[in-house]
Amino acid sequence: MTDVIKFENQGAIGIITINNPPANALSFAVVKGISDNFNACMADDNCKSVVITGAGRMFVAGADISEFGLPRPDDVPELDALIREMELAPKPIVAALNGLALGGGMELAMGCHYRIAAPTVSVGQPEVHLGFIPGGGGTQRLPRLVGIEKALVMIVGGNPIDAATALEYGAIDEVVEGDLVARAIELAEQKADSGEAPLQTGAKNDKISNVDPQIFEDWRKKVAPKSRNMRSPFECINTVEASTKLDIVEGLAFERETFERLMMTAEAKSMRHMFFAERDVAKIPDVPKDTLVQEIKKAAIIGSGTMGGGIAMNFANAGIPVVVVDIAQDVLDAGLEKVKANYAGSVSRGRITQEKMDQCMSLISGTTDYADLADVDIVIEAVFEEIELKKKIFAELDKVCKPDAILASNTSTLDINEIATSTNRPDKVCGTHFFSPANIMKLMENVRTKDSSKETIATIMGLAKTIRKIGVLVGVGDGFVGNRMLHPAARIAEFMVEEGALPWQIDKVIYDFGFPMGPFAMNDLAGVDVRYLVRQQQKKLYGDRRQSVILDRLYETGRYGQKTKAGWYKYEDGSRKGEPDSFTEELIIKTSAELGFERRDFSDEEILETYLYSMINTGAMVLEEGLAIRAADIDVVWHYGYGFPRYWGGPMFYADLIGLSKIYEKVCELHERYGDWVMPSALLKSLAEEGKGFGDYTLS
Ligand code: NAD
Repeated sequence: MTDVIKFENQGAIGIITINNPPANALSFAVVKGISDNFNACMADDNCKSVVITGAGRMFVAGADISEFGLPRPDDVPELDALIREMELAPKPIVAALNGLALGGGMELAMGCHYRIAAPTVSVGQPEVHLGFIPGGGGTQRLPRLVGIEKALVMIVGGNPIDAATALEYGAIDEVVEGDLVARAIELAEQKADSGEAPLQTGAKNDKISNVDPQIFEDWRKKVAPKSRNMRSPFECINTVEASTKLDIVEGLAFERETFERLMMTAEAKSMRHMFFAERDVAKIPDVPKDTLVQEIKKAAIIGSGTMGGGIAMNFANAGIPVVVVDIAQDVLDAGLEKVKANYAGSVSRGRITQEKMDQCMSLISGTTDYADLADVDIVIEAVFEEIELKKKIFAELDKVCKPDAILASNTSTLDINEIATSTNRPDKVCGTHFFSPANIMKLMENVRTKDSSKETIATIMGLAKTIRKIGVLVGVGDGFVGNRMLHPAARIAEFMVEEGALPWQIDKVIYDFGFPMGPFAMNDLAGVDVRYLVRQQQKKLYGDRRQSVILDRLYETGRYGQKTKAGWYKYEDGSRKGEPDSFTEELIIKTSAELGFERRDFSDEEILETYLYSMINTGAMVLEEGLAIRAADIDVVWHYGYGFPRYWGGPMFYADLIGLSKIYEKVCELHERYGDWVMPSALLKSLAEEGKGFGDYTLS
């Protein structure tokens, strides 16, 4: 018996308690422990039934993902086989769900004959979020308990349901308000004494009989738009459908075969990688977990523009009072009016209640007087992107704010080390780079300056969590991590247009890969003029390199994107979906001629490789320069900031899937063509030569 399982007898009832904190995950040791104790109970004539429950706050939160891919020790049974054995056991088994029962935990519970739960419990089959399907009988037993439609909702959607809903669906038999284990023992005794055969979920066929197969077709159509390039949602549907066509033994075998096939796909590997990457971003090697964190009880935002208003909403949503500052009352009023309209939109779409809106608005106040910031714990500056203005504001904040207040900038491009010099508290200065729209986008690039203290860093990383963002720590550098990598790739996309590709061809390739949109549609959304102005700045730095003439020509026509109803695309009748436009095409052809390019065909493969590999090469530089702690952090930035598909795991993980030697070779070719815009990274070269991946790299 292992110490991850506690076992005791209460009279004739054997009680198996899973004790593998924090999640009671079904590791090899746990599965063996359950199996050994279950077998002992079955062999013991004095034991008439069994209760299985969890210690702490969980029942079982799922399989032990860290053991995926590891060989299973010979003396550990397969989980699905153990669950089936339990289902067929002659003595009744009661699952007492004390806490979360997810994935394998829910499957274990469904293999038991009766399920009772504490009121706070949630149950679910979230495997689809990791790119595979339930593999312990979930796809065969859940439909038998709750019916096809609800099983599809739970398995294809992957979201847990609470105890009351689980009871209503039939996933559990009883919600217990009082002592759960005492009630489980009572039930176990009663069932054993009744002499009735234990209720096998697998033998329950009423909810899976006479099902109209059209439901599965409808579901396939329904999930298709959100499941581009993915297998797992469709395999979830296929296996649930199998429950209506095969008997339980055949259905379980079909599920197992599908599960094993999916476990090692790039999709599942990538989604597992993202699962760990999201958790690892919080680990900062030189900022230990016990670093003092400042409490943020009140915040201030400087600037009530596009970003300032959205950032303020994040604080209000989290229940933190926030003061917004702008230069004049009318500007401030207009900014706060937009915030209000934003909330009202959410109310009218049914996303939040009027009460929640009122509560949030009551937490947001406005002022034009910096003196009102004396009691705030953090200030986030979001004024125009001008270094002298920002320095002036930071000097003022340094005077009016209490000495330990954190002063953060939302700048996208400016040197925060320099901004910090205007204060007497450089250790309290940092960046909090939100993405637009700031109230929606989950990413926060938290920027560490050369002087930011550990406490400041721990506080802004904690703040990200409080306001429900994913905070990734990055270093100071042009564009930090995300935009730094985007800019060369977007620029090269424009070069490809000058050489023969068309914006919609490139956008389609990038969209089909899995991004929400391609670089040209994104540019139309953010503003052609914005990019043009950034480029004008950059020309000062990189004037000797090839410039994107087509961008200049488009800008000169006054087509600034969606806001002018025309950019790379045309937007007719208020549509936000751009249509390819002959005007742009003619402009492109003229510009190619002006530049002396004989236009050539680009294959989709060439477009994808050129765009992604130039981005990955910059990612390697970001790592080399220490701007990101680890490759996986870059992946998180790209998923949450730019919609890099989860099922490809982010650019750096994708690069590892492809193999770095292939990437390096292509990057060298791109360097020949695009010069210093694609400067092969030394790190990429060395990892490629050593046959390693970015995942093997740790900052020394
Ligand atoms: P914006 O032009 O929409 O808003 C800037 C606001 O700052 C205006 O309301 C202006 O009146 C106010 N302001 C100017 N000087 C001020 C002062 N001295 N005191 C108080 N308020 C003052 O700009 P934005 O798009 O919200 O960008 C703000 C910052 O966020 C910039 O640094 C920008 O680079 C960065 N950023 C923008 C985006 C984006 O997509 N817009 C994304 C990430 C980061």
